[in-house]
Amino acid sequence: MTELAPRATARIHPDAPEEPAPAGPTLRVVHESGDIDLAAAEAAAGQFLNALGISTSSESLRGTPGRMARAYAELFSPRPFDLTTFPNDEGYDELVLARRIPVRSVCEHHLLPFVGTAHVGYLPGGRILGLSKLARVVEHFACRPQVQERLTKQVADWLQTHLEPKGVGVVIEAEHSCMTLRGVQATGSSTMTSTLLGLLRSDARSRSEFLALTGAAS
Ligand SMILES: [Zn+2]
Repeated sequence: MTELAPRATARIHPDAPEEPAPAGPTLRVVHESGDIDLAAAEAAAGQFLNALGISTSSESLRGTPGRMARAYAELFSPRPFDLTTFPNDEGYDELVLARRIPVRSVCEHHLLPFVGTAHVGYLPGGRILGLSKLARVVEHFACRPQVQERLTKQVADWLQTHLEPKGVGVVIEAEHSCMTLRGVQATGSSTMTSTLLGLLRSDARSRSEFLALTGAAS
């Protein structure tokens, strides 16, 4: 009697079912970060404001340190999500692109917000992804102190690793309030960053199609 080798299961997350659903493996995406101590953050925010000569004794400012602490805690706490991939049964091999995904993040140099949009695309390999998940991946990496260049690359690298497509492209255009509200006060200026991997980098036709569709080529 021939003994069959144990069937390989594509479990990514330990809690995923032993028998994968037809949809494919599910990856629970949770941001690993330190614990948030809201009380300590509130006390520090009050001291911070006082050190800047802003009194928190008036009725309308009394709650400000607490609101500051909760606001930043929210900005640094991405929602966990499940990433399920599906077999690319139809052999779809054209570009899949989610355009104008909202980006909101906080620059790690000044802790001031930057906001903009992301265009995220990929050339499918063996598996495809729900389109809404592309936005979730962007949010996942945006909800932390960031620089735009790293954010762009992290989204692209993450998709390359977990989806193994034939190519990935990420373009982010954002306005940084540390540039528009202070310093050079370059009101209306925006910063554009892009990361192209695989065929979207090496194949001229795929690359120009992606950049044209995102508007980054103009
Ligand atoms: Zn900044």
